[in-house]
Amino acid sequence: VKDAINFVASDHAEKSVTGSARDARPGYTGYETYRAHGGYALAASVVNGEEEAEAILKAMEDSGLRGLGGAGFPAGRKWRIVRDQPAPRVMAVNIDEGEPGTFKDRVYLERDPHRFLEGLLIAAQVVGIEACYIYLRDEYHDCRAMLQAEIARLQADPPCALPLIELRRGAGAYICGEESAMIESIEGKRGEPRMRPPYIAQVGLFGRPTLEHNFETLYWVRDIVEKGPQWFSGFGRNGRKGLRSFSVSGRVKNPGVKLAPAGITLQELIDEYCGGMADGHTLYAYLPGGASGGILPASLNHIPLDFDTLQPYGCFIGSAAVIVLGQQDRARDAALNMMKFFEHESCGQCTPCRVGTAKAARLMQAERWDNATLEDLSQVMVDASICGLGQAAPNPVRSVQKYFAHEIGGQA
Ligand code: SF4
Repeated sequence: VKDAINFVASDHAEKSVTGSARDARPGYTGYETYRAHGGYALAASVVNGEEEAEAILKAMEDSGLRGLGGAGFPAGRKWRIVRDQPAPRVMAVNIDEGEPGTFKDRVYLERDPHRFLEGLLIAAQVVGIEACYIYLRDEYHDCRAMLQAEIARLQADPPCALPLIELRRGAGAYICGEESAMIESIEGKRGEPRMRPPYIAQVGLFGRPTLEHNFETLYWVRDIVEKGPQWFSGFGRNGRKGLRSFSVSGRVKNPGVKLAPAGITLQELIDEYCGGMADGHTLYAYLPGGASGGILPASLNHIPLDFDTLQPYGCFIGSAAVIVLGQQDRARDAALNMMKFFEHESCGQCTPCRVGTAKAARLMQAERWDNATLEDLSQVMVDASICGLGQAAPNPVRSVQKYFAHEIGGQA
């Protein structure tokens, strides 16, 4: 399986490049090169009609591909839901990539932007989308210039009828990675999450039914349709299916984006993909899903990493940002860091999150934690916050209370 995965990675990276100066960068695939290797043939074929569109939709459903921005909603099902809504429909693509520890989208975007753009065009044709809005993290300056240039090349020599494609800049707000806050931001408003229902699939961007996707979800569309849904679902370990792009950082020898089978364990990921722990460090703890996904101890290094597998441990994988801590680190420091981050990034719209994150951050600075008050606060945030930021903010707190009690004045 690993050989097959490595083949996938090299297949995307090895093509020779020609054309502009950027095209000459090693590992970069520009428009002409992408088309010369069969790129956009699939997008062009979708115009053949309803039968082709239905076959692609079925392949997406059978592949089991789930939203790779963090929520994990089945991609094919999302396409069908939005397709069943009345036209006009629009698409919003999230490349805000603000979750701490996540950098997979940038790595793929910098190397192979047209694989993503073809996925976008295929989705647009199958679902019947009139306009696509790409929301790009503003810190990715170089990516913006590159993506603008590549979209212009696509528009100058289109392989098929194109929808309107607009590239919008984020402004550094973490909350704008939340789908409805991103939509508010694209509309030119303050980035605050909306109450649901209605869901954005029904009433989304500019009041229209909206297909919202993370960058990486669209990146895999071409491969899944061309190679067949079983190609994607054929990967996996420990009973899980598919591929995951783990953004691994922290105390490992070789951090980076690791394309690995869904369900791989942390220990396997470190040993097989990261060259082991960094010199002088032994595994102490890890964050399986960035800031929001909680913290697990080294003793739980054997859990399959995937959607749904971490819930029994009070954690989740989110966008697969794995941060590895060593014996010189403390989980409580990481948790406090996260809570300060949430306090700073809370949009302030609802009291449990706005006040709760600030109060929790203060309480977490005490040498001995007031666990009863912190738990009261956590429950209110989970129950009464409007969006996932406030609902997930207590995860690191609860992880420390559950697995690292010896750090906060409790029993070891
Ligand atoms: Fe804003 Fe936090 Fe409420 Fe979400 S939970 S809407 S980020 S205040």
